[in-house]
Amino acid sequence: MKSQAQVAAVPLGTLIGRELRTDKVEKPFVKFGQSGLAKKGEDYFLIKTDCYRVPGDLSTLFSVFAIFDGHNGISAAIFTKENLLNNVLSAIPQDISRDAWLEALPRALVAGFVKTDIEFQQKGETSGTTATLVVIDEWTVTVASVGDSRCILDTQGGAVSLLTVDHRLEENEEERARVTASGGEVGRLNVYGGNAVGPLRCWPGGLCLSRSIGDTDVGEFIVPIPHVKQVKVSNYGGRLIIASDGIWDALSNDLAAQSCRGILAELAAKLVVKEALRSRGLKDDTTCLVVDIIPSDLPVLPPIPGKKPSMLTSLLFGKKSGNTTNKKKPSMLTSLLFGKKSGNTTNKAANKLSSVGVVEELFEEGSAMLAERLGKDFPFNKNSGTFRCAVCQMDQPPGDDLSVKSGPFFSPSSKPWEGPFFCTKCQKKKDAMEGIVIDEGESRHNSKVVA
Ligand SMILES: [Zn+2]
Repeated sequence: MKSQAQVAAVPLGTLIGRELRTDKVEKPFVKFGQSGLAKKGEDYFLIKTDCYRVPGDLSTLFSVFAIFDGHNGISAAIFTKENLLNNVLSAIPQDISRDAWLEALPRALVAGFVKTDIEFQQKGETSGTTATLVVIDEWTVTVASVGDSRCILDTQGGAVSLLTVDHRLEENEEERARVTASGGEVGRLNVYGGNAVGPLRCWPGGLCLSRSIGDTDVGEFIVPIPHVKQVKVSNYGGRLIIASDGIWDALSNDLAAQSCRGILAELAAKLVVKEALRSRGLKDDTTCLVVDIIPSDLPVLPPIPGKKPSMLTSLLFGKKSGNTTNKKKPSMLTSLLFGKKSGNTTNKAANKLSSVGVVEELFEEGSAMLAERLGKDFPFNKNSGTFRCAVCQMDQPPGDDLSVKSGPFFSPSSKPWEGPFFCTKCQKKKDAMEGIVIDEGESRHNSKVVA
């Protein structure tokens, strides 16, 4: 619950955004397109537009889009494509409201990513994959990612925002520090008499990424804990571009957005790939998903390229149509949105429309500390006498080993326990990711310290 003070601190833009969103606003349409070209054949994607928060209840529809860019083989990418979404959804409590579901989603994404990684590790294979999973529920977009398959949001004001973080050692100083502190070494590949070449990699393994699913042989400091960002786009909608690094190594976020503005999603994805190829050639697997969130009370009429930008164009696709637009007679869009034909209200309406680029940020967290990401719930089932693991959702009785390995938050006294609760297997994974080793004397310490 928000306190009075927090409510008072809501930015003006957000308030205007809320004003624009009335209860009468219908759910948006989701339109999408996909395109890609393979060089190594290690990119996979997922499109699922028929998911339901409540099975059988058509009003609880949501969509999922994802990209998995594999390396050192394809098995991690395929495994993640097949299991990640189920692992995420099974970590969300049943029978909760839509708001509660959306609030639970960021934690469930963390649990699902880590569970998928643990399950894949048990297969004993060494490949790895990026994973960028996008959940669209009406106007709310939640993005979780490990690796460097970006998701950007292009809004009507022409503002392009990045919803992911690149987990590349070369570009992410915070991640370099984390990997080093957890026992990894960061450096370049040495060839020819000690001259360092190529991007920063972590050793052992030589991976350029600091987070991924899989990579069993590289080291536990390459963690599967995703950066998660949740935003609410305005009722004027927006466009998501999700793509593997074959796109982002060739195009900036702005260029990718610009290369397909005003084009239907189905064609837009092809245009982004074409533009990336034009500038860089086919050097890597290149996969692109374009997803439009379109207000259902607007006709779906992306303008034809080359036509003079209409006000609708500028709203939907961010083109500047000039200062004179507001002074002209009401556009079709204004009429549609406000149901008014009188010229007197146009300026007022246009003023409101100036806030259409508003994106309400609901949540963002990127910490690699698992316990911080899963909350403090410590669910005890009185009937079975078991606890539910916050990662794998398996029930486990509080055994003797648990009392020691659960660390400082466990207390045998009557003091209330603070979670999250991890089963033995997931606790072991958590410790390993943080560089903590448990020796036979059951004391916990950081491997780096004793090395
Ligand atoms: Zn577990």
